Amino acid sequence: MPDLITHLSISYLFNKSLKAIRYSTLFYVGAVLPDIATRAVSIPYHPAEFAVYPLHTPLGVVLLCLLLSFFFAEAERKQVFISLIAGSSLHLFLDLFQKHLQPGYTLLFPFSWQPFEFGLFWPETIISMVPLWLVIIFVIEFRLWLKRI
Ligand SMILES: [Zn+2]
Repeated sequence: MPDLITHLSISYLFNKSLKAIRYSTLFYVGAVLPDIATRAVSIPYHPAEFAVYPLHTPLGVVLLCLLLSFFFAEAERKQVFISLIAGSSLHLFLDLFQKHLQPGYTLLFPFSWQPFEFGLFWPETIISMVPLWLVIIFVIEFRLWLKRI
């Protein structure tokens, strides 16, 4: 998993360039949702990892986003779901670029346990890029702020 700052930064760059997501905040929530849903449980209580692992798979993410969208008014659910699933899909896609010591991500869970990953970088490699993401975001926001004044 790239770190959460990287996930948020890249989702910010996607959101700013595409401008297709109606609920940006929910897109950002979706961008960290798979890790929050699994790591918030598995890190403090590792034996529970098998129970929350499906929430970091495409099917689990779809079901989780559907569940969360039902907390919103019926008229907004479709856009809420689209925003959450777009962010979560980006999250899972970015995770595929990371190398793992253990098997990668099981994209076809529960139909297959075959792991898959592109394996282009180690987790600590992308963390060194965090200052760059933050500078890029600052520059973008600063330029937007200058346009508003
Ligand atoms: Zn992840």
